[in-house]
Amino acid sequence: MAIENQNSLDLTAAADLDPPRAAYVHVPFCRHRCGYCNFSVLAGRDDLVDAYLSALQVELSQLGQPRVVDTLFIGGGTPTHFDGHALTRFLTLVRDWFPRSDQATEFSVEANPNDITPAKLDVLKAFGVDRISLGVQSFDADKLKTLERTHSPDEARTAIQLAAETIGNVSIDLIFATPEETPAAWRRDLRDAVALPLSHLSTYGLTFEKGTSFWNRLRKSDLAPIVEEDQLEMFRDAISIPAAAGLKHYEVSNHALPGRQCHHNMAYWRGVGWYAAGPGAASFVDGRRAVNHRSTTTYIKRLLQGKSPIAESEQLTNEQLIRERVAFGLRMLDGIDLRDVGPLEVVDRLLNAKFQMLIEIGMLKRTGSQVALTPQGLFVSDSVVSEIL
Ligand code: SF4
Repeated sequence: MAIENQNSLDLTAAADLDPPRAAYVHVPFCRHRCGYCNFSVLAGRDDLVDAYLSALQVELSQLGQPRVVDTLFIGGGTPTHFDGHALTRFLTLVRDWFPRSDQATEFSVEANPNDITPAKLDVLKAFGVDRISLGVQSFDADKLKTLERTHSPDEARTAIQLAAETIGNVSIDLIFATPEETPAAWRRDLRDAVALPLSHLSTYGLTFEKGTSFWNRLRKSDLAPIVEEDQLEMFRDAISIPAAAGLKHYEVSNHALPGRQCHHNMAYWRGVGWYAAGPGAASFVDGRRAVNHRSTTTYIKRLLQGKSPIAESEQLTNEQLIRERVAFGLRMLDGIDLRDVGPLEVVDRLLNAKFQMLIEIGMLKRTGSQVALTPQGLFVSDSVVSEIL
């Protein structure tokens, strides 16, 4: 990578990166919009699937030539919401434009438990999908209802078993700190999860995002966040219970069996570049970050009229790139080697005073060029990230 081969660096100059080895494609369709969801999603608009696929075809053709990647992540929305015909058309497009390299490590597809059928899993497998990421969120019927999810605990369990049998590498998402949830209820969720055939677990604290119905309900006091003390206890249990079952905590919100870390997401945390397509998708290519229009109808309309789907873009300077690589790299529990971020003297010139301050207050530890969060820093990782950015 050019940035690593230079002894001195003009920090105001544009960052220069190797071509990405990762790609993300966003599928915006869901059967229903969950109350907490702030993603680029359309519910009940399956009439737009054909137009979306045509628009995606146009966007991918703007790559000029197929791009060989090591990791591919299909997210949403709910990619498995497509019917069999649309799913095949979609996967054919993705396979043609993002062929996998000989060293490919991962082809992940997000799915909802409701949509997992043996027939759909067979289609995914036939296209080379080797990892399923299931939006389970909980195994508690009342909590699923609060979260406005459309599956039952039993459907989640069955989907995990089926995906494990067909695809073999299964990750699930769980949410904690749902209104009225107790630490004991959360521990039950975690224990239910680790008893199932998972290779990876993501645990997220519920956030109330502006523009969601949960945000409006919070403002009307129709929903209340749980107290901070309970949230901290839940975060601690989200580390200890998976760890006891062999799922190592390797990133602030992620746990995996050995060798089963999400390699695609590691490209984000390391800031090494990725392609992206679909409504609201954000790419990072040649040091330029570009974000597509979030509205699916705008995305479709612009592409089918021969216009760019990009809503905003920014060329990162070398200083921004170094700050981002350090800030997001620190989310990984093993931390980062600053020599992977840029020339060590340049990184230190920029950030050493900040590192010293964070070390003095016990948030960061450093040995040579290796920097990582301390256990205390882990609990306030968002603040550490803001400090560095
Ligand atoms: S299923 Fe996922 S993407 Fe779809 S609305 Fe619910 S949280 Fe959002």
